[in-house]
Amino acid sequence: MSQPSVPVRTRFAPSPTGLLHVGGARTALFNWIYARKHAGTFVLRIEDTDHSRNTEEAKKVITDGLHWLGLDWDEGPLKGGSYGPYYQSERTAIYEEYLGRLEKGGHLYEDNGAIRFRSPREKVVLQDEICGRIEFDLTNPGTHPDITLRRPDGSWIFHFVNVVDDIEMKITHVIRGEDHLSNTPKHIELYKALGAEPPRFAHMPLILNRDGSKMSKRDEGAALGTYPEAGYAPEAVRNYLCLLGWSPKDNREMISMSDVIALFELNQVNRRNAAFDLAKCFWLNGQYLMQMDLARYTELAIPFLEKAGITWPTYESLEQVLAIVKPKLKLLKELPEWVAPFFTEELSYDEAAVAKSLKGSDQGATAASRLKALSEAFKALTTWDVASLEAALKETAAKLGAKTGELVHPARVASSGRSVGPGLYEMLEVLGKERTLSRFATGEAKALG
Ligand code: GLU
Repeated sequence: MSQPSVPVRTRFAPSPTGLLHVGGARTALFNWIYARKHAGTFVLRIEDTDHSRNTEEAKKVITDGLHWLGLDWDEGPLKGGSYGPYYQSERTAIYEEYLGRLEKGGHLYEDNGAIRFRSPREKVVLQDEICGRIEFDLTNPGTHPDITLRRPDGSWIFHFVNVVDDIEMKITHVIRGEDHLSNTPKHIELYKALGAEPPRFAHMPLILNRDGSKMSKRDEGAALGTYPEAGYAPEAVRNYLCLLGWSPKDNREMISMSDVIALFELNQVNRRNAAFDLAKCFWLNGQYLMQMDLARYTELAIPFLEKAGITWPTYESLEQVLAIVKPKLKLLKELPEWVAPFFTEELSYDEAAVAKSLKGSDQGATAASRLKALSEAFKALTTWDVASLEAALKETAAKLGAKTGELVHPARVASSGRSVGPGLYEMLEVLGKERTLSRFATGEAKALG
């Protein structure tokens, strides 16, 4: 596709419902990608004409969600711009003026206090960037009644203000969900009546549950606001959202935003509905966390640790711990449990792990003696690193005629209180000799007690 000649201006125009749905987040993302690809402008406009739902909190859900995903807008709330205000609730004077123009053109009539637009009753052709050419027959008022622009109470109807704002804000591409496809011919009629050139339209396929049902706001994973707390990294979720209806030709799943921006084309958006697959998003998240550089990982980790009341002596000591838990964690919210054992003197023990690996079924004495043997081998070490720890453990196991695992499990539970965690030798290296030995002593007592 050739580069559009006028500067690209896209917009995300959510209504503040109190929730940013993944479908809305994907709409925002595709608009953002398209604007970035064409060095254009991405506008955020809040469609808050429904005053009952128009709360500060509901607007914050949207701006927070976009911030979290890293979708910065060039014009809009908190930012300003030449075509503001960017809240519909503050644009009444503009709507009045446009209504006056339609009135002058003889396009309006009153109906029980409401103001309605007289459809020219024609066939409307839409050349959609994704769906292709669609012809809508609006000649029958029975199936396509005239639309209302303003209610008797003076409030505005979506169709009208949406079109006015897209004209006023010089939007060149309206990229939105397919649920709006049936509105588009009515919108095109309005553009024409206002003497304005309609923008390019691109209607994206719907996002459905895997069973084909429509995704509701209660479905797991539907609300973007649940992802940060659940421990997803924004870059992983953003990557996942890209794949809802689009994919690079080579079917890569993990793809950098700069590659998406380079490869993205509206006419390659899939016309079939996209199936939402939280398991895939979860998998991607694990991949991202594993491959993430340590500084970024630490930045994402800190809020989770702070919230859990964990403190660490130095940034370096925190990084050291995060480096060894990083390859294993799938969700950041699991971090406190994994990290706490490194920064506490009061280890809390998982009773099930203690019962299984320290006490066993009447194996307590065995576990205790193994830990004791291991303590002695470790005490004698002159270097405290992964290689020496591993060699010492294996040597001790051989001496005792035990399998490596029979020493690893009690050692892990004794040193961390848990049966899952980072690699044992890495963990012991970071814990240090003194703490390891004192925890082994406690473990011995627990095994016998
Ligand atoms: N406020 C509308 C919505 O949230 C905007 C539709 C559009 O993008 O034109 O569905």
